Amino acid sequence: MSPRADVILQNGPIWCGREEGVAEAIAIWQGRVLAVGRQSEIAPLIGPKTRVIDLNGRLATPGLNDSHLHLVSLGFMMSWVDATPAAAPSLDALLSGIRTRAAKTRPGEWILARGYDQTKLDVKRHPYRTELDEAAPDNPVMLVRACGHISICNSRALELAGINENSSAPPGGLIEQRNGSLTGLLAENARGPVWAVIPSPTEDDLVAAIERGGRYLLSYGITSCMDAAVGQRGGFAEIAAYHRAKREGRLPVRTWLTLLGDPDRTIVPQCYEAGLISGTGDDMLMIGAVKYFLDGSAGGRTAWMSKPYLGEDQTTGIKILTDDELNELVMDAHVKGYQLACHAIGDAAIEQLITAYERALAAIPDPDRRHRIEHSGFSTPEQHRRMLKAGIYPCPQQVFIYDFGDAYVSVLGEERGLSSYPFRTWFDLGLKPATGSDAPVCDPNPFPNFYSMLTRKTWKGTVMDAHERVTIEEALQAFTEFGAFSQKLENTKGRLVEGQLADVSVFSRNLLTATPEDILDNTYCDLTIRGGAIVYDRLGVT
Ligand SMILES: [Zn+2]
Repeated sequence: MSPRADVILQNGPIWCGREEGVAEAIAIWQGRVLAVGRQSEIAPLIGPKTRVIDLNGRLATPGLNDSHLHLVSLGFMMSWVDATPAAAPSLDALLSGIRTRAAKTRPGEWILARGYDQTKLDVKRHPYRTELDEAAPDNPVMLVRACGHISICNSRALELAGINENSSAPPGGLIEQRNGSLTGLLAENARGPVWAVIPSPTEDDLVAAIERGGRYLLSYGITSCMDAAVGQRGGFAEIAAYHRAKREGRLPVRTWLTLLGDPDRTIVPQCYEAGLISGTGDDMLMIGAVKYFLDGSAGGRTAWMSKPYLGEDQTTGIKILTDDELNELVMDAHVKGYQLACHAIGDAAIEQLITAYERALAAIPDPDRRHRIEHSGFSTPEQHRRMLKAGIYPCPQQVFIYDFGDAYVSVLGEERGLSSYPFRTWFDLGLKPATGSDAPVCDPNPFPNFYSMLTRKTWKGTVMDAHERVTIEEALQAFTEFGAFSQKLENTKGRLVEGQLADVSVFSRNLLTATPEDILDNTYCDLTIRGGAIVYDRLGVT
């Protein structure tokens, strides 16, 4: 006799995958999909202990996979001062948020804030050091831009970091001065000394951040994610924190760990020594890839472009590593058996990265290593050709179009800006683009992500090259199956087929038939199931 299901979902469309289409019911047993099909086919699997969930016409899909975010940072950021455009549309609002926090913070303790975007602030410029000084005279303050690549520090923070007017910026960094005085703006590698003097988090802090961030993801139907820079906050201790979180039942989402490999803060040698290479782990927690940063962000004018930014003949962004350095780093990780997932946004950075990947793959061929290009915002047709040939995949975040599309046009011009993140192009080439949020860069809310995949519209309504639109089924495929593919786990999860992990998201509205506007503004995740267990229930009625 066939086993009886633990859980059955029925009475609503169940989108099982792009090829599989829609089923009427799904049966789950021991954390995996037992069967999908017509309601009459699944009904015999109902036993006395089966929990039957009535979808009431709502849509169920495979659990979403945010293929690039920063879970630890997201969790921490949720306790920082919220300087995102929604919370602080004006400079005054931003400063008053910092002032309020300062009133509750002991003198000398750090105040951290994050999420501002100068293009969305009323003053259309970065805040100044002196303004942060006024808001919090007795505390060191670091305000991080939405992109995560630029920080504004107040005088106390700069002092503690030993940065003054005579400091010279390290290679791949920028310490901004105006009229011989520090503005407080630091970019890329110049921020190291500040991070170095911010007290590092304890293991308890790290576990709490993982749990806080992960629960937030579940509330959006996200059951899997990739942490894109493990080690960024807590070094190698983050590995222990993740394992403890899992052990204690405090790891809410399946997490694929990308190890930070940048030479000044790498955790790769320690991981390698401990036997932690790509694929080590289990369904909940797995070592994924190794990451190096090649450039910054386009909106912050630090993405490394082959041609200058608009109106700044000398500015082509920031090149973080020399070709030799990158080639050596990539080769080292490739030889050790790691998949790579390096940050490259500008076309020049992508070129440098593809070249390094090709060299490594030529030296030690591995047709299915699936080295990834994180973001890959400004890749060119010629680069796509090389990526296809070598088996290199773009891992973009389509919500960037929604949040930053207008900024791309303003700093790079229409020709380069509008066609950025060419999703349809990648799709049609077979480059299987995943999608994600890069949280806390963008909110992990998947609905603006879907909206921009369907419409190519920014939050302002600008259409960013309508040719790059995809259908809702393609968007769902990117958010589920291709997310799994980017982690080499497409045979384990990402579709609702017999034997795959029973990760299911239930949405308040049928995404397959809803307008993009309704998906953006009027849709919720109602229910999240991970491994057959209900892990989020918005209405609390199931
Ligand atoms: Zn990232």
